[in-house]
Amino acid sequence: MTITSKQPNVGTTIFTVMSQLAAETGAFNLSQGFPNYNCSPKLIELVNHYMQKGMNQYAPMAGIMPLREILAQKTADLYHIHYHPNDEITIVSGCTEAIYATMAAILHKGDEVIVFEPAYDSYVPSIELNGGKPVFVTLTAENDFSIDWSVVKSKITKHTKAIMLTTPHNPTGKCLTQEDLAQLAEVVRDTDILIVSDEVYEHIIFDNRLHLSPASHPELKQRTFLCGSFGKTFHTTGWKLGYCLAPVELTAEFRKTHQWITFASPTPMQYAFADFMKEPDNYLSVRNFYEEKRNKFINWLKGSRFTLTPAEGSFFQMVSYNQITDESDYELAVRWTKEIGVASIPISVFYHEKYDNKILRFCFAKDDEMLEKAAERLCRL
Ligand code: GLN
Repeated sequence: MTITSKQPNVGTTIFTVMSQLAAETGAFNLSQGFPNYNCSPKLIELVNHYMQKGMNQYAPMAGIMPLREILAQKTADLYHIHYHPNDEITIVSGCTEAIYATMAAILHKGDEVIVFEPAYDSYVPSIELNGGKPVFVTLTAENDFSIDWSVVKSKITKHTKAIMLTTPHNPTGKCLTQEDLAQLAEVVRDTDILIVSDEVYEHIIFDNRLHLSPASHPELKQRTFLCGSFGKTFHTTGWKLGYCLAPVELTAEFRKTHQWITFASPTPMQYAFADFMKEPDNYLSVRNFYEEKRNKFINWLKGSRFTLTPAEGSFFQMVSYNQITDESDYELAVRWTKEIGVASIPISVFYHEKYDNKILRFCFAKDDEMLEKAAERLCRL
């Protein structure tokens, strides 16, 4: 049997490709973004506890209430953004689902979504599979990957349905500023344009920066789907648990699609997070944890010929290699995985036209020993 592909130009995601290559070659895997250390034993105990207690059947479609309540409280305490646990908070199977379910809920055939490139690789397929059309705004190293809002304005048409944002940004680590939010508010004022905001690295933000969700802007909250995750914050990327916070009308439509995608998300993990998050330090401490790692990694790279600007947030550090070679970033990432045993992600894969900034992305969510040894190898180049 053959079927007509709905995604004829899509291959396997780069994260699978590079992780597989790293495994085959025994390279240090600084490519796919996941920690190589365990989550808190307390969290595992809690999951065990709730499994033993019999919390092993479907959770409510929108998520268990205690988790929705603690999320509402955290979001109010930290960012002064208020969502009602009843009808404005939905627990889903990871932020990738939150983004997909949002696109499925909001897009009609031919609707346009503004996407900033480099863009995390699930955004465009989520838009296209739901009948939408991505409209690209290209950010490059030349402009320090910052957003020129006049370009965004020039891309708005009567078909623009949404703007997709990421803060802290993957792969650049850039964070939105107050000025960005003010400009964004100006762009969408007097329109029906929605905002889909990927904030999975909200707690991994450095140098005393404040995490600024578009939803923290009084004019933007009403049109924003805030998509988040427990995976990055609690070192549990494999538990695939995330959430979507959005005003009541938006949440109502969001839940209509979420219920057909996964219906509900794993129950014992939801109870575990609801308990674990009662102690704010459990999510607030991750900032220092990763800032230290970023600093160590950068320090260990001091003797290298890479040039880099410290990541503002996320657990990724971009490095420019144009002092070393002018090879394409993709070929180089593959070659260095095989030859020096350090795997990375080439930034060109995050552009639809494979724009090559001569930059690689390294994930520093790895134990210090691996980071130091990887850096040692990179310093020899
Ligand atoms: N978010 C992770 C990254 O950027 C990858 C997740 C995945 O493999 N789909 O590396």
